[in-house]
Amino acid sequence: MATATEPRRKVGRTLQTRLLIDGQWRDSLSGKTFETVNPATEETIAFVAEGDSADIDLAVKAARKAFDTGPWRKMDARDRGRLLNALADLIESQIDELAELETLDNGKPIRESRNADLPLVIDCFRYYAGWADKIHGQTIPIRGRHFCYTRREPVGVAGQIIPWNFPLLMAAWKWGPALAAGCTVILKPAEQTPLSALRLGELAMEAGFPAGVINIVPGFGETAGASLVAHKGVDKIAFTGETRTGQVIMKSAADTLKRVTLELGGKSPNIVFADADLDAAVEGAILGLYLNQGQCCCAGSRLFVQEQVHDQVVERLAARAQERKLGDPFDPETEQGPQVDKAQFDKILSYIDKGKAQGARCVSGGERFGGRGYFVKPTVFSEVKDQMAIATDEIFGPVMQVLRFREMDEVITRANTTDYGLAAAVWTRDIKKAHAIAESVRAGTIWVNCYDVFDAAAPFGGFKTSGLGRELGEKALDNYTELKTVTIALD
Ligand code: ADP
Repeated sequence: MATATEPRRKVGRTLQTRLLIDGQWRDSLSGKTFETVNPATEETIAFVAEGDSADIDLAVKAARKAFDTGPWRKMDARDRGRLLNALADLIESQIDELAELETLDNGKPIRESRNADLPLVIDCFRYYAGWADKIHGQTIPIRGRHFCYTRREPVGVAGQIIPWNFPLLMAAWKWGPALAAGCTVILKPAEQTPLSALRLGELAMEAGFPAGVINIVPGFGETAGASLVAHKGVDKIAFTGETRTGQVIMKSAADTLKRVTLELGGKSPNIVFADADLDAAVEGAILGLYLNQGQCCCAGSRLFVQEQVHDQVVERLAARAQERKLGDPFDPETEQGPQVDKAQFDKILSYIDKGKAQGARCVSGGERFGGRGYFVKPTVFSEVKDQMAIATDEIFGPVMQVLRFREMDEVITRANTTDYGLAAAVWTRDIKKAHAIAESVRAGTIWVNCYDVFDAAAPFGGFKTSGLGRELGEKALDNYTELKTVTIALD
């Protein structure tokens, strides 16, 4: 492992730290600000305007006006697509700087933000730009002399609450389908990572989105987030975050019967059969868990390994985990940066302690890295039992659980013994085994001989407590459209 070098502290431009409401950058009405911290150094990067219910109310009024009476409503669908493409072009022209901003605020390695997050963001906007003029209804042959057709209309004002693990990408997943469909949006970025969304807002204004179509209100969940969910002027809430928060949001949204989509937590099984290409399976397990410091809702945190190959896989995983380069996230060689904040760092270390206390065997890592910044060594536990806290709870950190299994039916049952159902993977050379897992594991995404393959065109979302509805792909357009049936008498 690399020793911690002095991490970078800045990006080369003045940071936007105000709220975007009705096309204007403004301070919060209360004048309050909150700090955002560089997790590699524990230093304050900037103070950001802290929106609360009064600012949310202003943003909702702006979004309402832009939706009900603004030029957005009358704009040709193709021109909405053109604006989304213009935004994608601007992001592409600023790709290095946006990647640096993401790395500064979130701590993710620059090689990931530059080569994974940002290309996916651009692709997502371009994909939905293409949909803008292809969202249409049907003609329906009903009985009698009637002409019946459906229209797919934008659902209205969308409140979008996103987490800190992929700040720009989560904004793109939310804005892409919403704007393509003709909605107006209010984005509430996570309090840990507001900076890149604010820069995205600047680029959206430069691209030419009309005032009020895109509003951004950073702030805390219990204040800004909760008032967005409760506001009568909001038609739809799209949320990504913890399952517990999703439950609170769904209850609150019931009062105004808002449309709700939720992308929540996971404890995804990653299943390695003895007949698999073990080199690929080990690399897939490492990527599937350690990507983004383990802070992925679909992290493959329960690695089921068939007993014939169990010991050699554990040995190889431990060696690969120990080789990972930790340190300054701005160093292009760095593979793992710090966790996003102290709360996550403490939570992860407490799970590591629980794993040790409950009798799992820690074969790699198991402690913090360095003396400053929220770094946790890539950790592998073997001899994990299904009931241990590390095997049931979402840790959201670089902590892998290896579980031994014998045969197919057993591993299917154990893989499904969880309230979550976001993703799963299987490694095998036997197509029958691959299909059996794809059919039987109750999760929204199944990867076969791969992990974390994302594409703007492929739907993503959870079974069970991992969520409600699907993001990405054509499917996500349903989240942002209402279906209207029009029937016209012909006689
Ligand atoms: P995490 O633990 O990953 O931060 P959360 O679910 O707490 O996950 O946060 C995800 C997003 O939800 C953040 O933008 C946060 O501010 C917001 N949030 C948290 N609590 C609430 C709430 N009660 N109502 C609305 N939004 C919330």
